[in-house]
Amino acid sequence: MPEPKRDILARKDEIVARLRDIVPGEGVIVREEELRAYETDGLTAYRQSPMVVVLPSTVEQVSKVMAYCHEQGIRVVPRGAGTSLSGGALPLEDGILLGLGKFNRILEIDYENRCVVAQPGVTNLGITKAVEHEGFYYAPDPSSQIACSIGGNVAENSGGVHCLKYGLTTNNVLGVEMVLIDGTVVRLGGKHLDSDGYDMLGLINGSEGLLGVVTEVTVRILKSPETARAVLVGFPSNEQAGDTVAAIISSGIVPAGVEMMDKPAIHAAEDFVQAGYPLDVEALLICELDGPEAEVDELLARVSRLAEENGATYERVSKDEEERARFWAGRKAAFPAVGRVTPDYYCMDGTIPRHRLAHVLGRMREMSEHYGLRVANVFHAGDGNLHPLIMYDANEGDQLERAENFGADILKLCVEVGGVLTGEHGVGVEKRDLMGTMFNEVDLNTQQRVKCAFDPNGLLNPGKVFPTLHRCAELGRMHISRGKMPFPDLPRF
Ligand SMILES: Cc1cc2nc3c(=O)[nH]c(=O)nc-3n(C[C@H](O)[C@H](O)[C@H](O)COP(=O)(O)OP(=O)(O)OC[C@H]3O[C@@H](n4cnc5c(N)ncnc54)[C@H](O)[C@@H]3O)c2cc1C
Repeated sequence: MPEPKRDILARKDEIVARLRDIVPGEGVIVREEELRAYETDGLTAYRQSPMVVVLPSTVEQVSKVMAYCHEQGIRVVPRGAGTSLSGGALPLEDGILLGLGKFNRILEIDYENRCVVAQPGVTNLGITKAVEHEGFYYAPDPSSQIACSIGGNVAENSGGVHCLKYGLTTNNVLGVEMVLIDGTVVRLGGKHLDSDGYDMLGLINGSEGLLGVVTEVTVRILKSPETARAVLVGFPSNEQAGDTVAAIISSGIVPAGVEMMDKPAIHAAEDFVQAGYPLDVEALLICELDGPEAEVDELLARVSRLAEENGATYERVSKDEEERARFWAGRKAAFPAVGRVTPDYYCMDGTIPRHRLAHVLGRMREMSEHYGLRVANVFHAGDGNLHPLIMYDANEGDQLERAENFGADILKLCVEVGGVLTGEHGVGVEKRDLMGTMFNEVDLNTQQRVKCAFDPNGLLNPGKVFPTLHRCAELGRMHISRGKMPFPDLPRF
């Protein structure tokens, strides 16, 4: 992480006093024991107490805090619900942690234009809950949807089970209000479907808190499908399950979701929530089809045929809504379920072309033996988005280091087979040092130029996403020619 600024730390009391002027009451936290709640996010292997936590409740306060930080050179880390799995909300010793938790209201529900305007701290599920009585829902559904915030979803361009058919966050966000580092409040997009000029909204989705602080989000809502049914299909091997996913998609079927779990994940989930999963299979697919009833019946029959052709040994179609929900409950609780059978786990997130699923799962098994660490796989198979959960015990010898190396090897493999480093959890600190395996020097410099256009002094969430100069040099990607560095004006943390 960037070296803390000693001059800022020396002025902490003065900074806190000014922040208390801007956010009066209980909105500024400095007591050590209270800061501890913010020292990590979902990537719990890394911890750092922030200098101070600020919890504004109005856009005006956010704007004033940002303008003050800009003027004083103070670093800012935005935070939603803190469920990031890539360390995106990891605080800085000399920085402000700007929590958006008080922005928790739905501002408008507009059924005519099929959209909801929400503050960024509203939970993902909170949006669906607000409109489901009228037969609507918000499609992107991360497994953390009960807790994660819509602002965090925008920052991470989050995905979920239903994103295969309905798109990721970026395909469902129509507009945002955002505060720039100098305090300026801007609006991008709105209730309308498209905007003039560059796709700035697209840029903000997945910007991981590096470009601005989102203070309002307008999302598209969809009419709930007439019918939705899920089928569980079990296989004697991961490879056969992987091949079935490729066969379903290449046949032209677009399921509402296709998720896959391997044996360790199936057993952990079944023990935890009794979803009705078969325990005598090596791999399980949960495939959901939605739409008019006749179409769903026809598609289920086609999926069933493809599964049989690929050696399926188990099949069960949900009879009713309760059973469908139970099938999904196991999948959605799979991460905490694995958490019950290991002291720690490290969740990776790489995406590969679907037809390489079987190959990559096979290689992962070899790596698991090589590193002497168990791995459970539970992932968005339809999108080729892998989530290997590497099990380890941080208190045992070099297990954390082995888990990190194992994870890095998996991500490098994803890139090697034509995939990418992250599907939906973002780069954060977790994958930052692997960016050089995916992007060359020109790519990284170009991306940093975009960052610089928004935040020239590198105050917003520094240390995330972009590898350090030192690490770039290590990776042999940073070219120093005749003592000169390319783009010397770019800040390098
Ligand atoms: C059990 C579990 C399951 C998960 N399943 C999924 C899944 O299926 N799909 C998926 O995509 N993710 C999943 N995640 C990851 C995580 O929930 C998502 O990345 C989520 O979008 C993070 O939201 P948050 O509110 O917790 O953001 P935080 O963790 O608080 O922050 C995440 C990033 O967003 C930035 N940020 C947050 N709020 C704002 C804002 N208002 N303005 C600007 N930047 C902001 C932060 O600086 C940080 O970089 C899972 C996590 C857990 C713990």
